[in-house]
Amino acid sequence: MGILHKIVVSTLPLIPRPIMRQLSSRYIAGETLEEALGRLQTLHDQGFGGVLDILGEDVEDEREARSVLEQYKLGAVALKERGFDCYVSVKPTHFGLRQSPELAFSLYDELLGHCASLGQTARVEMEDHGTTDATLNLFARLRAKHDNVGIVLQSRLFRTPRDIQRLPEAKINVRMVKGIYLEPESIAHTDAGPIRQAYIEQCKTLWAGGHYVAIASHDGGMAEELLSHIAAHGIGTDQYCFEVLLGVQEPLWQSWLSAGHPVRVYVPYGPDWRAYSQRRLRKNPQMLGHVTKGVLRSLVGK
Ligand SMILES: Cc1cc2nc3c(=O)[nH]c(=O)nc-3n(C[C@H](O)[C@H](O)[C@H](O)COP(=O)(O)OP(=O)(O)OC[C@H]3O[C@@H](n4cnc5c(N)ncnc54)[C@H](O)[C@@H]3O)c2cc1C
Repeated sequence: MGILHKIVVSTLPLIPRPIMRQLSSRYIAGETLEEALGRLQTLHDQGFGGVLDILGEDVEDEREARSVLEQYKLGAVALKERGFDCYVSVKPTHFGLRQSPELAFSLYDELLGHCASLGQTARVEMEDHGTTDATLNLFARLRAKHDNVGIVLQSRLFRTPRDIQRLPEAKINVRMVKGIYLEPESIAHTDAGPIRQAYIEQCKTLWAGGHYVAIASHDGGMAEELLSHIAAHGIGTDQYCFEVLLGVQEPLWQSWLSAGHPVRVYVPYGPDWRAYSQRRLRKNPQMLGHVTKGVLRSLVGK
């Protein structure tokens, strides 16, 4: 990371709301469900599947977590009504995991029952390493009761090969990611090469175990390697898809779609967009250039 990049990253929380909102519009669908459905409609018309996410994490209390559940339930109904190939994806701490694993279990349980009645699925996302054990325990309990639930695994964590071995005995829908949280080097790979290598190995292990892998990455080179493996082993579209983030590397998703691979676009929305947008912008030096210009313009009043 260059010095200018570092300076801009450290000032992201200070950037005025209207500028951040404008820059974020590339990565988030908007603040309302209607706006998210509009984006999903455009993607659907182009042949992309979707993943619907309500922005937010670490709720304060049970009341807030229950309100998040109600919003997800409304989202699931709207997806069904519009006929989108799209599932809902929920962060465990948005359902109160840090306060109470029991609360999180009951809310996912209710959501999954609701989704099942609509013929839909949902995914438990993965957050920082402080929540990994609780999230995997939660998932194992949910999977014992519902077959319409998937999980996320992070290739940067040393523990992931063991976690794969301990997955429930069934075909599991795993979203494989590198991991957005920068974890300590005592428990995780911290360099790009080993994270990537681990990702490839872990996907191969999952396929060998009969699981489904959502390849959630924009790493084109890594995807090429995985696609060679898919072709060589006759792995069908019942065992993989690509998942990508709204606003990130669109030409890549287009090329995968044109080549006949299923691609889902992750569409986040909600009033709590600022933290998410900062994480995305931190990873994109080109966008940070626009941020710098925007901030300078706002300072000189233009
Ligand atoms: C659908 C989806 C769901 C996810 N869910 C989770 C989750 O539950 N838990 C979790 O820990 N992580 C999650 N992630 C994030 C993931 O862990 C990575 O942090 C993220 O995908 C970036 O890694 P990459 O594999 O794309 O590879 P990278 O090596 O980081 O990036 C590959 C290429 O894409 C470019 N790129 C990456 N991000 C951006 C960006 N914001 N703007 C512009 N270019 C960019 C890079 O510059 C590089 O050229 C998810 C990612 C996706 C796609």
